[in-house]
Amino acid sequence: MRLADLSHDDLLALHAEQTTAYEALVAQGLKLDLTRGKPSAAQLDLSNELLSLPGAGRYTDASGVDCRNYGGTQGLVEVREIFAPLLGIPVAQLVAGDNASLSIMHDTLVFSLLLGTTDGPRWVDGPAKFLCPVPGYDRHFALCEAYGIEMVPVELGPDGPDLDEVRRLVADDPSIKGMWVVPTYANPDGAVYSEAVTRALVEMPTAAPDFRIFWDNAYAVHHLTDDERPAVDVLGLAAAAGHPDRVFVFASSSKITFAGAGVSFFGSSPANVAWYLGHLSKRTIGPDKVNHLRHALFLRDAEGVRELMRAHRAILRPKFDQVEEILAKRLGELDLATWTDPEGGYFISLDVPDGTASRVVALAKGAGIAMTGAGAAFPYGRDPRDRNIRIAPSMPTPDDVAAAIDGLATCVLLAAAEQRLAV
Ligand code: PMP
Repeated sequence: MRLADLSHDDLLALHAEQTTAYEALVAQGLKLDLTRGKPSAAQLDLSNELLSLPGAGRYTDASGVDCRNYGGTQGLVEVREIFAPLLGIPVAQLVAGDNASLSIMHDTLVFSLLLGTTDGPRWVDGPAKFLCPVPGYDRHFALCEAYGIEMVPVELGPDGPDLDEVRRLVADDPSIKGMWVVPTYANPDGAVYSEAVTRALVEMPTAAPDFRIFWDNAYAVHHLTDDERPAVDVLGLAAAAGHPDRVFVFASSSKITFAGAGVSFFGSSPANVAWYLGHLSKRTIGPDKVNHLRHALFLRDAEGVRELMRAHRAILRPKFDQVEEILAKRLGELDLATWTDPEGGYFISLDVPDGTASRVVALAKGAGIAMTGAGAAFPYGRDPRDRNIRIAPSMPTPDDVAAAIDGLATCVLLAAAEQRLAV
């Protein structure tokens, strides 16, 4: 029976049952963490060969450059050649950077704010706003907040944001300078932007001539099914639409090799790459080329990355299946919550009854289950319906994932019963 159809007595019984279950949960003294999408130790072990590469006496790249020394701002060609086909970006338009793509997003944002883009003045001189498909990635929103960029939420569906809304907003308001996009297996709801949506985004007229899409393809190769769909050629589509400079692409090997010790990437039009490298050359005398060499030797080619990702999938998939199974078993019958069944990426997005997400996360915390804060996937941390919870099942062991999700389900049921009884 659906929660909404339960009689008062049924609700009292549910409340009593889940209170007992919750007390038992607390008594277990769990200490589980589902907060961030970190790879597990088993996943990191897949890349342990990196720890002994490039190896004694190995320090030149294919063209003979000494990787131990300064220089080469665009990064090693061989590592760019591996990732170019995976990201659908020409090698010449791809920059390989240091250990984190978030730093590149930060830099491109700050360069645009303080120095202007190739086709517009400094954003810092006028009001600057970003469109933020929601739910979205909290660190994107934190960057905007840190630099005073006003965030305008737009609803995200399974294959992209509400296009009518996006088109209307960007056509009307010249202070909308940018938009965040996680095009593949979006964090947290697993959305995959279709080619049609991508084309619409690069074609649409914008009041701001210097409008930029921050295309964060963090999960481009992180498939959880056999459907290893290729990256959409967003730069090609943008150029064909007459807006070659509209898109900044970001990616990294953080969740391919070592998180925080991988290689990051920036891809864009030739003009934007020149703009980025020009500013970057003030910030650094060159990237960590030894790390590039290490990665090129380990990954070999695009197929090497695909093979590695299949090994990640073998570890990750059972955890996602377990979450689905437990949520369906515990919450399915009462029809009080919905959750995503992503085909890739790192997250499951759970929607609980409106107005209960904060309470669920607080109850979980009280039982030793750390969840990402309710509202984290929304600008300013404010979920207008207080219903969304992000589940990150990658890091804990399978047994711990099962224990945490079962405990979380108890918290969802208890919070829902409390709300309906107004206790
Ligand atoms: N973008 C998204 C959408 C992410 O989910 C993450 C990691 N949680 C990152 C970027 C961070 O990438 P990096 O490690 O390259 O900074």
